[in-house]
Amino acid sequence: MRAKKSLGQNFLQDETVIKRIIDALDVRPDETVVEIGPGHGELTAQLIEKAAAVIAIEFDRDLIASLKNRFSQNESFTALNEDVLSVDLSRLIAENLGSEISNLKLIANLPYNISTPILQRLIDQRSLFSRFVLMFQREVVERITAAPGGKDRGFLSVLVEDAFDAEYLFDVPPQAFRPVPKVWSAVVRLIPKSARIKDEILFRKILSISFSQKRKNIQNNLKGAYPNASGLLESAGIDSRRRAETLTLNEWGKLIDSIANENDRASI
Ligand code: SAM
Repeated sequence: MRAKKSLGQNFLQDETVIKRIIDALDVRPDETVVEIGPGHGELTAQLIEKAAAVIAIEFDRDLIASLKNRFSQNESFTALNEDVLSVDLSRLIAENLGSEISNLKLIANLPYNISTPILQRLIDQRSLFSRFVLMFQREVVERITAAPGGKDRGFLSVLVEDAFDAEYLFDVPPQAFRPVPKVWSAVVRLIPKSARIKDEILFRKILSISFSQKRKNIQNNLKGAYPNASGLLESAGIDSRRRAETLTLNEWGKLIDSIANENDRASI
């Protein structure tokens, strides 16, 4: 079967890499694993050995047919022909597992061209899972795990830091795949945690405005939407001349609190 470039199909061939990814998920016999984009099932085969059940979500209908064929003996395996960008994971899990929706982990070697929207969806649905092990293009993992102050720090780094304990695990060379991609990959482990910032809609809006022009300082980015940007930053204890990438998560929290307080005052 020819790999479909449009679906980001680069299939893992390297047994050592496959084992390291599976080990990072640390699957227990009573757990269910959701796998996104199983491809030919190289990770899936190992997951079926370890987990109570495996639900695989694959967009490519041809691959679904071959997965069903390959794992037809395994009653604990379910292959679903769905688009992860539009599927409601909680509905899908409830439909396939009934009320047994605890003990869930998620694994994915993701198509790189849609890594940002997939990640945003996983952030939204994170409370379903106790752990995620994800492979992305290396630059995406660098961005996701970037600390404040570095050039890679951006919208996604802050969102991920608020939602998860994230750990950059290891790099994967292009030769580990067929066909061989042009770029390196990397594996990240995400463990959901209680978010510092509760108003996620306001949080995303402020992040998107603050990072809209990376060369501008935060006050200049914010003042189009918030004419009182300098006052808001001052009450959060943040110097207006700083750039968005230098703010810590705690400072983002204080800024969101100060904007939410002003919104509350305006609505009285
Ligand atoms: N997990 C396999 C492996 O490691 O060999 C395949 C990884 S390949 C990089 C990405 C997989 O995601 C492909 O099987 C592709 O068909 C699937 N895929 C692409 N877009 C998808 C989508 N929107 N929803 C679900 N699966 C998708």
